[in-house]
Amino acid sequence: MYSITLFARYISTPKQIAYCSIIAGLLGSLLFGGITSLMLHGKREASADILAKDINHYFSAFFNDLHVATDSIQPLTFTECRDVNGELTSRAAFNIYVRAFVLVRNGKAYCSSATGAMHMAMGNLVPEIDISKNIDFSIMTGTPMMPGKPTIATWFKNPEGDGRGIFTTLNVNLTPYLLFTARQSDAPIIAIIVGNRALTTLSSEIVNVDSLPPNPSRTTSLSQYPVKIYLYTKPWPVEDLQLSVLAGLIFGLLSGVICSYFLYVKMRPGKEILTGIKQGQFYVMYQPVVGSHDLKMSGLEALMRWNHPTAGMIPPDAFIAFAEAQQLIVPLTRHLFALIARDAEMLQRILPPGGKFGINLAPSHLHSPTFKDDIMAFAASLPPDGFQIVFEITERDMLKEKEAMNLFAWLHEQGFEIAIDDFGTGHSALIYLERFTLDYLKIDRGFVNTIGMETVTAPVLDAVLTLAKRLNMATVAEGVETPEQAKWLIERGVNYLQGYYFSRPLTLAQLASWNASQNDHHFLKDIH
Ligand code: C2E
Ligand code: CA
Ligand code: CA
Repeated sequence: MYSITLFARYISTPKQIAYCSIIAGLLGSLLFGGITSLMLHGKREASADILAKDINHYFSAFFNDLHVATDSIQPLTFTECRDVNGELTSRAAFNIYVRAFVLVRNGKAYCSSATGAMHMAMGNLVPEIDISKNIDFSIMTGTPMMPGKPTIATWFKNPEGDGRGIFTTLNVNLTPYLLFTARQSDAPIIAIIVGNRALTTLSSEIVNVDSLPPNPSRTTSLSQYPVKIYLYTKPWPVEDLQLSVLAGLIFGLLSGVICSYFLYVKMRPGKEILTGIKQGQFYVMYQPVVGSHDLKMSGLEALMRWNHPTAGMIPPDAFIAFAEAQQLIVPLTRHLFALIARDAEMLQRILPPGGKFGINLAPSHLHSPTFKDDIMAFAASLPPDGFQIVFEITERDMLKEKEAMNLFAWLHEQGFEIAIDDFGTGHSALIYLERFTLDYLKIDRGFVNTIGMETVTAPVLDAVLTLAKRLNMATVAEGVETPEQAKWLIERGVNYLQGYYFSRPLTLAQLASWNASQNDHHFLKDIH
């Protein structure tokens, strides 16, 4: 039943809508920022996989080509250097990756495409290479022709034996790659590893495997050659993080805007009230007020009700505050006026001549710019000389003292009376009342409740009644539920009584029959 009220309490004011939107914005930015960074991360990982695979393919194909080329010159190891020198040189010259082909026989390098005939044991030339293996590689700091320029040296053994084979030094130049990647701050680092030495995109020097950065993100080995490749990628590069933050900001802003749009326009809580007005979900109940001398009806108080289609009966305390928060109190009060005007003729017949008709005014309505026009329009909609309207106002309304005084004077000029409602619940001092001209003082039901209990009710009530008398105000006690309370209040001189003991708030039809049977109520007899 209270779902609407709960809803109203949670999201009622524009401030709360703003809070909700900010929270939605923050959640949105976290969510989208997170999703974006995860997506970018996934993309980075996938491209690192592809890169590792591509590098592996590239070097495998490269060494395969070299293998084919060396196979074709293996037969030359059966020939003397002077007979093959020319051919060897041109073979090397036509292969841009080859620095030198060296023919090896009996474990001795005896013919180089670069330097011609030579005599050097392989063990002295490249101690790292084991010529008993079919294929062996090494990274060297340089060659005689190009000292200081690192090279990958390869050994392909001739299957015919006798320590024959082809030794090759290669131009493995990662510089173009370096140039290319220098422009990309987050480009991966590549390391080509043979034995315990490595060539990297980090520098043109040979580095020891031990001094490579730890934890490469990808490692791959060539299947047929003793070469390993390490790839270092940044899993969370700055660019990706910046992009994620940007995405988070944009989507966060978007979710905040959508949220506030939704709350303000689509789900605007106050919309319920406007719909309620349109669909006739509001109605008025009337609670009789009786005079102390005869306990017969002297007036009525109009109390609004909201019969919500799904939330059920919503108490006025909740929806009035809600309507005030939504700035909808003016249309709601106008609606109340219209409902009362519709019942006015019937009410006129029920009320005694000059009967009082209490209407509650919400504080925010009193101070709204349309207040006077609304009141005039209401007065014009009532039958002439119908009943005496009493506007019930709480102490809260009087905080703007000057304005309240002017409004009260104006209401009096128009022939309305004014009651201070819920008296005793506010925080103002009794003396505060002296500044205003008011006609009735309604003693709050919380106050009446304590009658008969061991409290200080009596002296306080006496002080209130004395003051009211001095200020020429009539007094009304609210929430009278028992004959004892009624008796006690009458004895102290309270002028009017209102409460469940006499009647609960009634619909117009109920009120008519309650009134018709008034003579059957023996309130006076019960009390005395
Ligand atoms: P209120 O002006 O103090 O109205 C009296 C409240 O006390 C009513 O509650 C009434 O039903 C209840 N009441 C009357 N006799 C007894 C009793 O003997 N015992 C108990 N326990 N309660 C009794 P209701 O109708 O729920 O209204 C609550 C408040 O909502 C009202 O307090 C008033 O401040 C506000 N309200 C009601 N209708 C309107 C309206 O049309 N406009 C405005 N602005 N406020 C309204
Ligand atoms: Ca009231
Ligand atoms: Ca009251």
